Amino acid sequence: MSAALRPEFARLNEIVAARRPWSHVMKKGETLRIIDLEGQQAVDTLFYNPHDFAERYSAQDTVAAQGAPYLGTGTKLMSSEGRVMATITANTGGRHDTSAGACSCESNTVRFGHHTRYMEACRENFLVEIAKYGMGKRDLVSNINFFMNVPIEPDGTLAIVDGQSAPGGYVELRAAMDILCVISNCPQINNPCNGFDPSPIRVLVWPPMA
Ligand SMILES: [Zn+2]
Repeated sequence: MSAALRPEFARLNEIVAARRPWSHVMKKGETLRIIDLEGQQAVDTLFYNPHDFAERYSAQDTVAAQGAPYLGTGTKLMSSEGRVMATITANTGGRHDTSAGACSCESNTVRFGHHTRYMEACRENFLVEIAKYGMGKRDLVSNINFFMNVPIEPDGTLAIVDGQSAPGGYVELRAAMDILCVISNCPQINNPCNGFDPSPIRVLVWPPMA
């Protein structure tokens, strides 16, 4: 951890409660740290260009650019315009997924039964949060699942298994352009992505380092 990234120097230091969405505009050069306070908490995340929402995070371009499916230190998070939005600069939170998408009420009913129809889900969290910026369903794209462990099996199957992040595990990324960061602190309780117990996370933002 860099000395410049001490919590007392952060310009933003907030808790995102279990199950809740969050968003914030970061300036180019700023650093975001997401802390998995209690461990095994999936943090569904999207990025948009705050000056032109049509440019947004692209899972496909990110995987293609690094030639590998999991995200970790050094991964460049690419936009739909082929630009680097942010780079992951530190990671103690295990493996991060960008293949499995976000949970939704619809997918929950297909996977877990109709009784889950009215449970909270990341897609709904995202819609609530991006509505603040005038965006809607057509603006949702494939997201990042920080701290979510989705190994790709030898036969190509995506498995959702217990997360690898221990309490206090974190991921840091530095914005390569101005970015709107949108988070759904995943409320899923029907599979192991949150250890069956959604928990709060902490987010910190530091100004660009001199
Ligand atoms: Zn979710």
